[in-house]
Amino acid sequence: MNILLIAPPVFDFYNTPHRMEPLGLLYIQKALRNEGHRAEIYDATASGKVKKQQTPPELAYLSEFYEEDRSPFSLHNGYKRFGDSFNAICGHVSQNNYDIIGISSLFSAYHPDVENLTAEIKKVFKGPVVIGGTAVNAQKETMMKTTNADYLIHGSGTVPMVQFVKAVSGMIPFDKVDGLIYRDGEKITINEASKEPAWSGGLIPDREHLRIFRKKRLAKTVFSSGCRNRCAFCSIHRDNAFMHRNISHIRLELEHLLRTGAQIVDIEDDDIFSDPDFARELLDLLEHFHKSGLEFTALNGLTAKNIVPFAGRLNDAGFIKLDLSLVSGSKTVSDELGRPHGTYEIEQIQKTVKGKMDIEVFIIPGLPGTTFPKTLETMVYLYKKGIKCGLSPLYLVPGVPMFEKAGIPEDLRLCRGSALYPFSPEERATVASLLKISRFLNYCLTDKNALSSENRIYFNRSLSRNQWFKRSGEDKWLDSFRFHEKFQNPFKLD
Ligand code: SF4
Repeated sequence: MNILLIAPPVFDFYNTPHRMEPLGLLYIQKALRNEGHRAEIYDATASGKVKKQQTPPELAYLSEFYEEDRSPFSLHNGYKRFGDSFNAICGHVSQNNYDIIGISSLFSAYHPDVENLTAEIKKVFKGPVVIGGTAVNAQKETMMKTTNADYLIHGSGTVPMVQFVKAVSGMIPFDKVDGLIYRDGEKITINEASKEPAWSGGLIPDREHLRIFRKKRLAKTVFSSGCRNRCAFCSIHRDNAFMHRNISHIRLELEHLLRTGAQIVDIEDDDIFSDPDFARELLDLLEHFHKSGLEFTALNGLTAKNIVPFAGRLNDAGFIKLDLSLVSGSKTVSDELGRPHGTYEIEQIQKTVKGKMDIEVFIIPGLPGTTFPKTLETMVYLYKKGIKCGLSPLYLVPGVPMFEKAGIPEDLRLCRGSALYPFSPEERATVASLLKISRFLNYCLTDKNALSSENRIYFNRSLSRNQWFKRSGEDKWLDSFRFHEKFQNPFKLD
């Protein structure tokens, strides 16, 4: 069989290109190749193309926040397509003789664009099209009712895709394909998901398009699946059992990545280092490979509690950056959300690593239970500790009770973080302002001259007049959006 797996382009105001390597599809590709199939990946964002797009009407309300601004407290500017056009993808499909097409859909908010792509592909391709990924996990039956694809797969896709190819070839019935969702006349059938994680069977994927991070070639990997924590806003523990890979397989993969030319390995686990024995073995291995030149990141975020006991080893193991997820600095909120740690663990880690690597701590403004003044207080606390603070705007995950209760919008595009949803206009301006403040605080941590610059003057003026300034292309300071919240100026707290 000749199979094409598509990692689609992304449509949003921003993107993180170094995190776009389609790891899930790479595992599926390897599993299919091991079965003797021809499996190719169309990695749409690998080209690095960025094209401005018309903002969809449902996101037009964001234009007052996302505008041209050259100041260090600017937000995004303009809606874009990151990756190849649908025409380029469909042209590739038409020129090749594929038997099956699989498309990944990893984020509910981007799923409408995946459906649009699928509709275009169906015009030029008559074989079966299947969509899989976390967006499917979130909506299974609802999605099947409206999808342009012929089939969906929920849960991990590696084992199911091999089974699916067999079912299409008539070797096994469709009800024997794990996680398959399909129409049987009027009826929608949802098969039980595969229990095997994406990396099962010791797969070591072939690499083609490594991304670039800090001018070095970066490859993504995972050493485990699932998470043992139960945070109220997260779907990871719902969809994946916790399992970790065999250390000898990890060794083989790191050897393979070194040979492939990777310089940084980004460990995308959700719960790395939660098992102390495994963590010790893993750190020995990372240290060994660091001596051969590999460096490591965990850009998906590390659980601070897990790494406190090992923080002293992270530098020797080759970690160049620590992304720590805090979510909220409030102990009450953290406890209510089921978070495994708070600011204490972050302080412990900072003390231990002693500035040998960058630390960035992520919090989520607007999460139910949090307040905006408390969010600012946490941002200022981190700033004073010299720690960069990343604000991750709230994104809604269908099927997660906390968000279902708050109301999942009918238009899934609004679920993305950049949509600043589901806030009232007043709250939205507050969240956008917090994003600006965090940008400026980080700028002050990295630029020695920031506090004496003209930028600071206009930042201060913006806060005191409750209306932002923006810096135009002609270097003029112009009015931007207003906000109601009375923010205490972080620089007056010294
Ligand atoms: S620690 Fe992270 S991955 Fe685990 S449940 Fe909480 S948010 Fe999800």
